[in-house]
Formats: sequence, structure tokens, C-alpha cells
Amino acid sequence: TINDDSNNNNNTTTTPPHVVLVPLMAQGQTIPMLDMARLLANRGVHVTFITTPVNASRIKPIIARVHESNLPMNFIELPFPCAEAGLPLGCENFDLVPSRELFPNFFDAIRLLAHPLEQRLRDLVPRPTCMINDMWNPWTANVARSLNIRRLVYHGPSCVFIYCSYVFRLHKIFDTVTDEFEEITVPGLTDDGDDVGQSFKVSKAHLSAWLNSPGLKLRDEVLLAEETADGVVINTFDDVEPMFVEAYKKVAGKDVWTVGPLCLYDKDDDLSARIVRGNKAVVDPEKLFRWLDSMEENSVLYVSFGTLTRIKVGEILEIGSGLEASGIPFLWVIKDVEKSPVVEGWLEGFEKRMSLRSFVIKGWAPQAAILSHKSVGGFFSHCGWNSTSEAVSNGVPMITWPQFADQFLNERLVVEFLRIAIAIGVKKPIFYYGENEIPVKRDDVERAVRSLMGDGEEAEERRIRAREIKEKAIKAMDAGGSSYENITMLVEYIKLESCKGTQGATS
Ligand code: UDP
Repeated sequence: TINDDSNNNNNTTTTPPHVVLVPLMAQGQTIPMLDMARLLANRGVHVTFITTPVNASRIKPIIARVHESNLPMNFIELPFPCAEAGLPLGCENFDLVPSRELFPNFFDAIRLLAHPLEQRLRDLVPRPTCMINDMWNPWTANVARSLNIRRLVYHGPSCVFIYCSYVFRLHKIFDTVTDEFEEITVPGLTDDGDDVGQSFKVSKAHLSAWLNSPGLKLRDEVLLAEETADGVVINTFDDVEPMFVEAYKKVAGKDVWTVGPLCLYDKDDDLSARIVRGNKAVVDPEKLFRWLDSMEENSVLYVSFGTLTRIKVGEILEIGSGLEASGIPFLWVIKDVEKSPVVEGWLEGFEKRMSLRSFVIKGWAPQAAILSHKSVGGFFSHCGWNSTSEAVSNGVPMITWPQFADQFLNERLVVEFLRIAIAIGVKKPIFYYGENEIPVKRDDVERAVRSLMGDGEEAEERRIRAREIKEKAIKAMDAGGSSYENITMLVEYIKLESCKGTQGATS
């Protein structure tokens, strides 16, 4: 059941620290914010997590665990105004929006949550003292303002993306650039002693279509809400992208807390905690993990491309043929929206041929749990920041096929800076390709899979580096580590706000 304190008439004058988390209703945003919510609750902050009926049903097992463990946390379900925004009923998450044309409607629907959210928060006891909103929910600025509480922005993407977006916009660097693929050195980075920081380059095409399109209302609102926020919370850790964290902290002009990788929140829990992340897996976990247990250590390639990218039919066939030709065992996730009669028909024969060395999941997979399994030795990924962080946190080397948003920059980070990944070789974001164009061919897949999973010297060195960065990720989240300490400071900040709130209420 959903627990809501709104009817609790507590008349004490002290205001316990109470933070409201407003995620974007998209898996890549909600999952890490839910990790953050539990982390803050574990550290003594009262947390209210905003969700909607469909999203709440997806995370039901987590809500149950939260209540069982008596964490000071409650969930508020706001009805999602699908009909008012012209969306099909139940379309409450980005991955349920049937077509790109309806994306603006989805943002309109979320924006309509402002009034009901404000109403619910006004009645809450203890009263909220601080809000953390996903960057894509700029409308929360007005809600926080009218409640007179502090507001911090949560950034889902990597710091490399956040910093580059900021600094390229600040200096209007792309204004005079005509070749969208011209590589331009990122200004303001300190030397990391390895010359990588000095030579880190990005192009207009790779930094995001979103940044470059003029006159986008939502983009401008996002930027304004970031400017007026009291601080920034980022799901990264200092050692994974040190020069970008340092450079962003210098220019942000406000507190910046790097608190990740948030996926390590439940690393010490049993596997069942990680299995229920985000959604109900379509596969029987026992069967899946029995299969993984039966495979040799580091032998399996995990293939999955996040929640927003839609892999075309032709691409699915190329990926499958490449995996088949590689001879390497694999665990492949095909999303619900990617299923079609052609794909299903083709998979029938494919799965029979591959039965001894493959496991195909059609729908939601327990990704975090899979990546933490010892048999998984590689990850073919679209480089979404959560997937990248999960690979890094588990020491799993990657093959990268970026599609859009921050993914090309994340690729550069793991391929060139961390050197734990092989690029499949895609140079352009998906918007540059025609409907029937297929940028990745079976030979590319076969070649990359063989090099990543093989036992050559380069592959071995890549594995060693991946293990090293995993150790650093764990250290960052453990007591005394950089993210742990930043969370302590964030908690202190929230506590201080609640003291100010108490003074205000009693004076
Ligand atoms: N995820 C999952 N199972 C799936 C697909 C995705 O658990 O079948 C999780 C994945 O572990 C990650 C998030 O969904 O935490 C996807 O976020 P990412 O930033 O990688 O990609 P995006 O959602 O932006 O495509």
C-alpha cells in the first residue's frame, strides 16, 4: 500500500529534515532517484517520493521493501493527466509513449502535475523543507517557490555532458561552426597528467540536438530552472570523470554534490533487491540466474540498449547475426516495443540454433543484477549514463553503440579516457539516419564481440582497468569515500534548511 502522511496531525514545533523527490517519469531517471531516496532515508532524512499509479505499480516490490524496513519514506501517487494532454490511457512513463510525435504531450501532462503536487505538499506532515527535482521537471521551480522551500536539481546525465553543454553554450562556441562533425577541444579542463583532459573533443552533432536547436521552450525552461536552483546533485563519482567534475564545480556557481554511482546503493543486499529494480522482469529470475550460474566466469556478453532507444528490425537481425558469428555466449534483451511478427519469426529459428549459448529476454530484464553476476564479462550498450555507471560499478568492459543525448560523450569517456570499452564505430546520432539505414552491420558486431571477449593482451588489460575503476566506484560510495562524504554534506544541507524552517515557524 502507498503510505501518505497527509492526514497525520502532528503538532510538534520541530521540523525534521524532509526532502521531496520529483523524478521524471522515465526509467533512466526514476531508477537512480529511487536509489537516492532510499540512501537519504537511510541517512536519517524523511523522504517523500512522487510517483503516479502506473509507475507505482512498476516499483511495488521496492515500495513494499521500504515499508518493511521502516525507512522514513512515503510515496505520493498523483493521478497522471493522460486524457487532458492527449495521451492514451496509462501512458504514464516515457517508455510507454507510442510515438515521438507524442513526446511534447507527455511533457505537457507532467507539467499539469504542478497544481496537485503543490496541494499535496502543503498538507504534508512533517512539512517538506527541500525539494530535489529531475532537471526535466522545470515546472517544480514554481511549486518550491510557492512553498518557500529550497530546490536542488538532479542531473541524470554524466558530468562530461553537463559540463560540455554548459561551457559550449556559455561561450557560444557552436554559433560559428558550420561543420556539425568538426571536433572541438573542450575548454577549461585541467591537465590530468595523461593529456586526455587537454585533448577531449566534442562535435556539435554529438553534444546533442537538444542543445543546438534554437527556440525550444522546454530547453529554455530547463536552463532557467537550473539557474534558479539552490544546488545540483549528480549521479556520478569524482574518480570516473575527474576533470569534468572539477571543471563543472568551478563554473556552476552553486553547491554541486556528486553522489554516485547510485546503483551501488544496494550492493550489499541479496540479489532479490536488485532483481526488482525499475519494473517486474518478464523472465523467471531463478531460471535466468541458474543459466548464468552454469556459464564460465566472464564468458557471457550482455546485450541491451536501455529504455528509450528503439532498435529497428533490420538492426536486430544484424546484431543477432553478429552474435551468432562471434561464437560467444550472450544474454540479449529485446524490448517489448521492438517485438514484431518479423522479429518473432526470425527469433524462433535463431533461438533454436543458439540454444546452447544464449538467453534471450523479451521485455524488462533485471539489468543491475545481471551485470553484477560473475559470468558476465562484457556489455554491448547504448551508453545511457545509468547503463554506463552500472557497467563501471561492476567492472564490466563495454562495446558502445551511442544513439543520442549524452551517449556519444559517455562513449568517449569509457573508450578514450577510461579505456574500458570498444566503440562499434557509429559516428552519427540516430536522427541522421533514414528509416531504412542500418549503421551497424553483422561484421562490426562480430569483430567487436570477439575483441572484447577474447583473451588477447588488449582485452586482458581492458578487464584489469575495468576492475580498477569498479574498486574506485565502490570506494566512493563506502564510508569515507567521496560520494559518501558528499551525501553527508547534502544531508547536512537539508538538515540546516529544516532548522531554518523551524526557526521561521516558531519565531
Ligand atoms: N533497465 C533494466 N532493465 C531493462 C532495461 C533497462 O533494469 O530491461 C535499467 C538499466 O539498468 C538502467 C535504466 O534502466 O538503470 C536505463 O537507463 P539508461 O540511462 O542506461 O538508458 P535510457 O533509459 O536513457 O535509455
